[in-house]
Amino acid sequence: EGEKEGEIDYVFKVVVVGDSAVGKTQLLGRFTKDEFFLDSKSTIGVEFQTRTLSLHRKRVKAQIWDTAGQERYRAVTSAYYRGALGAMVVYDITRRWTFENVARWVEELRAHADGSTVVALIGNKADMPAGRREVAADEAARFAEEQGLFFSEASALSGDNVDRAFLTLLEEIFAVVS
Ligand code: GDP
Repeated sequence: EGEKEGEIDYVFKVVVVGDSAVGKTQLLGRFTKDEFFLDSKSTIGVEFQTRTLSLHRKRVKAQIWDTAGQERYRAVTSAYYRGALGAMVVYDITRRWTFENVARWVEELRAHADGSTVVALIGNKADMPAGRREVAADEAARFAEEQGLFFSEASALSGDNVDRAFLTLLEEIFAVVS
């Protein structure tokens, strides 16, 4: 509220990528506003949202970018990735195809973003009934380990692990830039 730019020590740009409808917008809303929007896509057109927090006595503004639907058209541009210090690659644990596509998103990140960009893999919709699950957590964890990514399942709906995932990513970025 009325945060003066002068009080900010760092601005960390973080991009959120992944297939359509995996919950990117909802994760971002959960982290920046602690809200889950029942009317999804209410943030369309908004390129990023921010949350300012303290890390190691520094004021850090996390600027979290949303593709706002561009991923439907494979039109995520290099401007989207430019300057990103961190990235979250999101899949939906109830739709295997969205996990199969993670490798493509990681490649795209490596191609467009800086080599030092910190990447987290997030399996969203962990609140869904066990019978709906199409991706085992340990399979995703193994893939993340091979790729050198931080991994967590999360639920934008319940809020489980959302803050923890973003904060872990921001801590890793802090370690890289400070
Ligand atoms: P995006 O296209 O990746 O930005 O996905 P959205 O954030 O628009 O979410 C797509 C759909 O999944 C919407 O109907 C959301 O309400 C739903 N959704 C998002 N996150 C979760 C979650 O954690 N759990 C459940 N059950 N549904 C979710």
